[in-house]
Parts: sequence; structure tokens; C-alpha cells
Amino acid sequence: MAYSTRYGNGASGAVNERIMAQLKDIIPDGVSDKESDRIVYSRDYWPISLRWELEGSIPALPDCIVWPETTAQVAEIIKLANREHIPVIPYGGGSGVMGGTVPVMGGIIMDMKRMDDVEDIDEKGLMVTAQTGINGMNFERYLNRHGYTLGHIPQSLYCSSLGGWLACRAAGQFSTKYGKIEDMVVALEAVLADGTVIHSKAVPRSSTGPQVERLLLGSEGTLGIITEAILKIWPYPEERALLSFAFEDIAHALEAARGIMRRNVYPAVVRIYDENETLRHFYETEEAEGKCMMVLVMEGDRRLVELEKNISVETCTAEQGISCGDGPVLHWLESRFNVKESSEFVPRGFIFDTVEVSSGWKHALHLYETVIAAMRGVEGVAVASGHASHFYPQGVCFYFTFGGVPPKKKTPHAFYTEVWDAIMRACLESDGSISHHHGIGITRAKWLSEEMGARFAVLERIKAAIDPNGIMNPGKMVRNHDE
Ligand SMILES: Cc1cc2nc3c(=O)[nH]c(=O)nc-3n(C[C@H](O)[C@H](O)[C@H](O)COP(=O)(O)OP(=O)(O)OC[C@H]3O[C@@H](n4cnc5c(N)ncnc54)[C@H](O)[C@@H]3O)c2cc1C
Repeated sequence: MAYSTRYGNGASGAVNERIMAQLKDIIPDGVSDKESDRIVYSRDYWPISLRWELEGSIPALPDCIVWPETTAQVAEIIKLANREHIPVIPYGGGSGVMGGTVPVMGGIIMDMKRMDDVEDIDEKGLMVTAQTGINGMNFERYLNRHGYTLGHIPQSLYCSSLGGWLACRAAGQFSTKYGKIEDMVVALEAVLADGTVIHSKAVPRSSTGPQVERLLLGSEGTLGIITEAILKIWPYPEERALLSFAFEDIAHALEAARGIMRRNVYPAVVRIYDENETLRHFYETEEAEGKCMMVLVMEGDRRLVELEKNISVETCTAEQGISCGDGPVLHWLESRFNVKESSEFVPRGFIFDTVEVSSGWKHALHLYETVIAAMRGVEGVAVASGHASHFYPQGVCFYFTFGGVPPKKKTPHAFYTEVWDAIMRACLESDGSISHHHGIGITRAKWLSEEMGARFAVLERIKAAIDPNGIMNPGKMVRNHDE
């Protein structure tokens, strides 16, 4: 098979026959170094890598893939890799969009999908214990069958895993009520870079020093492997209310959402689309023509839902929102997992991506306008739009989309990087944070030190202390001193 690799010259070569034999001793039927498997695991859902693949180029090749079934096997493999200084890259669903699983230095891809047991539902304590390789949709369906929900419903629900959510600090569509994945964590089990297994306790809180296991949340596989989690669950909601409003502009819509939050009301879903995205998604709603659509979902106890609904209607009406009924919300509910455009546009030469950032209310409108202008300022950009998807009393997450065709003499990657750079710069200059939930991966790595300031050196020291041989997902997030 003819192809080139973007990072490195193929696999590291560190996994020789001796290492393969040792890996097979640990997991007899869970190791592969077949070329077809290595190509499959060469990338995640990073949009630019889809384009590269069409050009006959893959991001980077791992040496082999392992599929552990137990925490003990994970620990044994990590110990072996640490002794031999072989990179290990945790892999969940491969739905990450930042290149987080790309094995830039080769090594062992550790696919967690066989670790997919739901071990216990504690109905009294409203907690569930699960292995982290479980697929998101299977997990939620399991809970629903037992009368519960996790409340974590990312758009990638069907193709992502619990471990990936925890490692990237993911945010689901219903997060305004249920919280982000880190808010749902009660306890974790993880294998660190030297094979040490750590556990925390299934208690609602403890004042026993820093919660070291929480370092794993958002670490994107650079500190260890999260193998099991105990999470909060909720009884499946008995009632749902669906509302939508069209606003004159995004400023009025944001003010309405801020007003709802300020009254301590947390709808499960709040989404505000700018004029372009309203036209794209809600062109059938006449009242929304030329306006900004807000969709709201409230769910839970019947009487609380009624109250939240009344307060939301009152607040949106005060901001001159025009009620559009439940039609737009039903449309959103039906189409929310549909991402077929991405696979349709890439083969036609269209370069696109989505970029989520966060802002405090004080700078929110300015940040939105600055980022839209920054995207439009890049030659070749044809689509630049945004919506707000996650809300807090303190601020908001904006989710921007750009698409376009590279001008002549510019490679797709150069064009892609130019738009990303423009967005990151505009975001930092508007006092925003460069990522709300997709994480760092490869795309954002060069912006992380500016985002974190003096905290970045602390992160580097933590990495060096926990993973002195730099085996865990090397080349990501921070680099070890000797890399
Ligand atoms: C169509 C689409 C929609 C999306 N929608 C959302 C959304 O609504 N909200 C959202 O937050 N994200 C979304 N994403 C991004 C992506 O789904 C999330 O980042 C998700 O958390 C990744 O999970 P995964 O299991 O696929 O992880 P992977 O892509 O396999 O891995 C992601 C990172 O986590 C590390 N990792 C994976 N498992 C473990 C583990 N057990 N221990 C330690 N490290 C681990 C990997 O090394 C890598 O660095 C979307 C992506 C797509 C393609």
C-alpha cells in the first residue's frame, strides 16, 4: 500500500519481536501489528487528517495496537512500555477532533473498547461504576433501561467512549443542567505512567488535600490511562418542555439566556444560533427569517419543569423574543447527531472545522464579533458562523464553524492553520479561553502556553514527575524536558 506519513517516518520501530512476544503474553488475543490495523489507528476525527487521507497521506503510524480487558493488563503493558521507553497512546472511540490519538512518535495504541463493563448501579446513592472503554450510546441506553440517565449527551455519543470524555473534559448537549463530564465524576481508577494503579473513594466529597486523581481529567492520555469511573446519575426525567424564540440579533438572545441563568434556572439545553446558522438550520421557520434562533429544553420533575418554562418564557419575552413553538426544537432533536456534511464536503476540496471557545459574559459579544471578523478576514473563507451551546451564570461557550477553499499557492494545511491561528489570536485578545470542550491535541498545542501563562511550567513539572520517561501520549499537551 503506498502512502506517506505526516509525522515521523512511520512507526518508531521500538516494538520489536521480543516486545511483541511479551505483549502477547499479557493479552494473548489482543495484540496486532497488521498494517491494515496500524493504518486505521493512524488518526482520529481531526478534520484536516481526513483531507490528508484523500491525498494518500496519513498522520502517523503506531507500531502496534493492544486491546486490554482488565486494569491488571493495562498496568502490565504500561510497566513494560515504561521499562522499554515505548510510547503508549490511549484510544477510546477515536472521535477526538484535535489529533489527540495520533501516534506522532509511533508506539503502542491502547484501544480501551474491550473494557466496557457497567459494574454497578447504586440506586440509593445515584451512582454508576463503569469501565472507561464503554461506548457512549451503549452506556446511556443501559442507564435508560434501568430508569436513569447520565445526562451526558455529546453530539459524538454514538462514536465516543467514557474514557475519551474524561480525558478531554467533554461537554454534552444537555450540559447546562447536568454539568460537564468532570462535574459528574465521583471517583476514578487510573493507571499511571509507571504502572501504579490509583483509586479514589465513592463519597460525595472529602477535604483530604488536593484530589490528585482529578489531574487525569483533561490530561488527554499524557499522564496515564483512566480505567474505571464512578459517576453521578439521575432518574430518567418524567417531563420535557420544548421552547424556541427568534430574537432580533444575537445580543438580545444572549441577554435572554444570561437572564435565565441569573435567576438560577438551568434548562438542560440552551442553544443560540447566529443569523447565518439560523438560516442554515431553521429556514422552515418563517418567524425566524433574518433573526437569531434560541432553542430550549427543560426536563426533570414535572412541577420544576413548569416553573423553569414559565421563567424562561417571561425572560425571553422581555428581550423581545418571538415564540416559535416546539417545531424548531423537535427539528434540532431529530437532526442533532447528523454530521454527514463533513464527509460530503471534504472530498470536494472544501476545508472546514469547528472551534469552541469560552467567554465570561463581560466580553462575550465582543469575542463573538471579533472571532467572526477574524475568520472572514482570511482569504478563501466562504463560511464563517457560530452558535452558543453551553451556558453558565458566569458566561458562555461559542461554537464557531469555518469553511472555504484554499487560495492558489496555499496548501490545504496552510489555509487551515491560518484560519485556526486567526481564531485563537482573536479569542485570546478578547479574554476568552481557547477551548471549551474539544481539548488541545495537536491543533491547539502551540497556543497552550499562552493560554496558561505561568501554569504551563507547573503542568510541565507535573508531567515530568508522573511520567519521567515521557511514554504517555508523547508530543501532546506538554513535552518532557528530554523529548
Ligand atoms: C461528530 C462529532 C461530534 C462531537 N461532539 C462533541 C460534543 O458534543 N462534545 C464534546 O465534548 N466533544 C465532541 N466531539 C469531540 C469528541 O467526541 C470528544 O473529544 C470525546 O470526548 C472523545 O472521546 P473518544 O472516546 O472518541 O476519545 P479519543 O478520540 O479516542 O481520544 C481522545 C483523547 O483522549 C485520550 N484517551 C482516550 N481514552 C482514554 C482513557 N481511557 N484514559 C486516558 N486517556 C484517554 C486519547 O489519548 C486522546 O488524547 C465530537 C466529535 C465528533 C467527531
